[in-house]
Amino acid sequence: MSKSVDLSQEGIEVKKSCCYFCHQNCGVLAYVKDGNVLAIEGDPSYPTNEGGLCCRGNIALKHLDHPARVNYPLKRVGKRGEGQWEQISWDQALDEIAAKLAAIRDEFGAEAVATAGGTSRTDDWARRRFMNLFGSPNCFHNSHLCWIPTFMVETAIYGWCPFDLDLGASRCLVLWGQNPGASSMPEMHHIRGLQAKGLKVIVIDPRFTETAAKADMWLPLRPGSDLALALAWVNVIINEGLYDAEFVTEYCEGFGELADHVEQFTPEWAAPLTWLTPEQIRESAYMYATSKPGNIQWGVAIDQLGKSAGAAMHARALLRALTGNLDCPGSDLLTGPSQDSITDEEMEANDRLPEEQKAKQIGADKFKLVTWPGYGKIAELAKKHWGKAPTAEWMCEAHPPSVFNAILTGEPYPVKALLVSATNPVNSYGQSKMTLEALRKIDFMVTCEYWMTPTAALSDYVLPIAGALERPTITNSYGCADFLLCSQRAIQPMYERRNDYNFWRDLGMRMGQEEMWPWETVEDAYHYRIEPLGYGTESYDEFVELYRFHFPEREFYKYKRIGFGTPSGKIELYSSTLKDLGYPPLPEYVGPAENEADDPELAKEFPLVLTTGNGFMPFHHSEHFQIKELRFLRHEPRVEINPATAAELGIAEDDWVWIETRRGRIKQKASLTQGVAPRVIVTERGWWFPERSMTEPELGGCLESNTNVLTSVADEHCDPMSGTWANRGLLCKVYKVNGADAKEGK
Ligand code: SF4
Repeated sequence: MSKSVDLSQEGIEVKKSCCYFCHQNCGVLAYVKDGNVLAIEGDPSYPTNEGGLCCRGNIALKHLDHPARVNYPLKRVGKRGEGQWEQISWDQALDEIAAKLAAIRDEFGAEAVATAGGTSRTDDWARRRFMNLFGSPNCFHNSHLCWIPTFMVETAIYGWCPFDLDLGASRCLVLWGQNPGASSMPEMHHIRGLQAKGLKVIVIDPRFTETAAKADMWLPLRPGSDLALALAWVNVIINEGLYDAEFVTEYCEGFGELADHVEQFTPEWAAPLTWLTPEQIRESAYMYATSKPGNIQWGVAIDQLGKSAGAAMHARALLRALTGNLDCPGSDLLTGPSQDSITDEEMEANDRLPEEQKAKQIGADKFKLVTWPGYGKIAELAKKHWGKAPTAEWMCEAHPPSVFNAILTGEPYPVKALLVSATNPVNSYGQSKMTLEALRKIDFMVTCEYWMTPTAALSDYVLPIAGALERPTITNSYGCADFLLCSQRAIQPMYERRNDYNFWRDLGMRMGQEEMWPWETVEDAYHYRIEPLGYGTESYDEFVELYRFHFPEREFYKYKRIGFGTPSGKIELYSSTLKDLGYPPLPEYVGPAENEADDPELAKEFPLVLTTGNGFMPFHHSEHFQIKELRFLRHEPRVEINPATAAELGIAEDDWVWIETRRGRIKQKASLTQGVAPRVIVTERGWWFPERSMTEPELGGCLESNTNVLTSVADEHCDPMSGTWANRGLLCKVYKVNGADAKEGK
């Protein structure tokens, strides 16, 4: 908090706001006078951050009134990407956008309009509600890379996905491709406290991360080989009798089939695939299975594997079931959706999307689990078991690369309009060159944003969106958990910024959806959602001021009372839901998206193994590159290379190097570190340069150091169940940048 502000002066109000710069939504106290935020600090009473804020959270006031913020609705007046804009009113923008969308629907069908979403700094249910009422099934996020496939696989196997965990009583925590030491300050703080009381921590990560440095065991596996490791752990736990026989007998189906199936996946089989020793695999499996109760924390690394992702999630899910580490004290909890409030899914109006439109969802014919075929089946089971379904926005998405391909090719049908909210697809979605071409070609694009991003720069309209201090928030983990953390807006939006809720509502009001948007403000909608909690408050703001949180009483061992939300009512080690969708009911081994065993010729040209997508401070995805205080901490992109490999390639610390895959090349600056194995290359994600020209062809240097140029969205590299694409375990080569290109900023 700024020490130069006198907070004892008269007329200061303290508002209970939150930070929006990553998914943690840390609690913030905002000191407000005359409609201005004078200072902020972490809220000591907030259960996750307990008063702390990381470097991103601490720059909230810089973000609030940064000179580069988009503050007024803008309409493109020159050629696409030329940077010629006219400032217009919201009414004009909304009238024109509504008219254009109606014309596209009349000519091409509602499915020709798609929406792209991003990080959770929006009310996604409002977006889905608008699209359902409009009639298009083509909503998508980057959720494929962010835990949603895990949610769906685990829900298929045990009827819900354990998002919440009872870490306090745990004896062993597995962090699988997760580095809270860099990505989640509150979580790491909590873990360190528990380690002091005896918690064991296993970190599975190709990098020696901040978290690995504090772990009891670090498994530096080959990027992309997670499936082999998970199968070998299942093998050890079954073959060496480490499973919970009573729990398995009573509550699981398919143990015999699983035991036979994993006989082949010994630690000796997995060792050359994972680059670990059989002893490391055995010892770590023992640690997890015998230090009970234990947790496997949710994380996203496995979701980003591409073609082996679904099987890896499946194998990892079996570990909890075999050890009985589910819904008991100290384990991973199956909370189900909130029973006490109106959930995100109940706000989405999914029943208003006609069946024939659901059937047109792009990608649903290829990737059935995270689209309407799989979601519909799982939602029906969940409604039967829990009385409510998981959120469709996130869990039931058009396949993003296939939508971009539809824009380019017109197959399976033309997509003519894209409504973009809280995302910058050029930098955040896979195979960026293809994504960029699609955005250059789209007929009509509207972007709701804080900044002029490379994506916004290609849009027809750019609309200014309110940030964290200017809007209220309900944090409930995308409708996957049963608690609510509520925050209020500190001030009304500055300039002509609006809450994204108002964008979807006001557009809906112009398109015949009036009766479905009874809540004039987002606070009205939130009040409707929390009223069933029974606190009796007159308004949402009053609830935040008086209570702020709602944690229902925790019930362990719910399965003893109600079973599991699967077709059999038990944990299905042999999954009937996956089988019904046409997928293997037990996890079968497939290699990483690109690997030396399946394609030795490719490995000769691209001998190194790439992993992308690591979160790193102080940025979040492709956000915050404008803020000079954060750029001071990290002003250029870095790639990690082992010193022995660098020496062989003639690369020194701080040299600019090219990193190349079959999809293209990017450049980043070399950081030599023993923290990665000699064949491993680790790039940073998200990079673009807002200080450069934001017009064509430069567009903020959006391809130059952008790791998504290297990733693959080819169907054969995608997970057959979820469609998640390959960010990790790809083959690459690295070489020094020479000549003029080696200059910084070129
Ligand atoms: S961890 Fe940092 S960026 Fe994330 S919500 Fe908390 S303060 Fe904000």
